[in-house]
Amino acid sequence: MKEIKCARCGKSLKYNFKSLSKHIKCDHCNLEMIIDPRSQRMLKYVRGLFVAIVVSILMYGCMKLGTIESYVAIIIVCSFTLLLTQFSDQLCLLITDKIFHLRYIAYERPKVKAAKTAKSKRR
Ligand SMILES: [Zn+2]
Repeated sequence: MKEIKCARCGKSLKYNFKSLSKHIKCDHCNLEMIIDPRSQRMLKYVRGLFVAIVVSILMYGCMKLGTIESYVAIIIVCSFTLLLTQFSDQLCLLITDKIFHLRYIAYERPKVKAAKTAKSKRR
């Protein structure tokens, strides 16, 4: 369970890791929140590391190609990766949260932002 404080009403929201995502909504005031830029950057690093580990295991399997063990290893890694990619978003978020602590900020809809910049340009 993770507790996230709402940026607008200050009430804490409880999330289990299954429903953890980059984009959450406050149950009390419907404020939409996303992870802050720092957390987004960390998430990218974790994801890169994750991919690097999978690739290096595959490379190791390819280097030993020819033996039955290597084929078995590659098949296991491939099916494992396929399974993991389905949960990789959750997994990466979980790892990022464990190491760096995810932080959420209020999310402004891109439409509103675009309208604002258009207005300031006109001035
Ligand atoms: Zn709220």
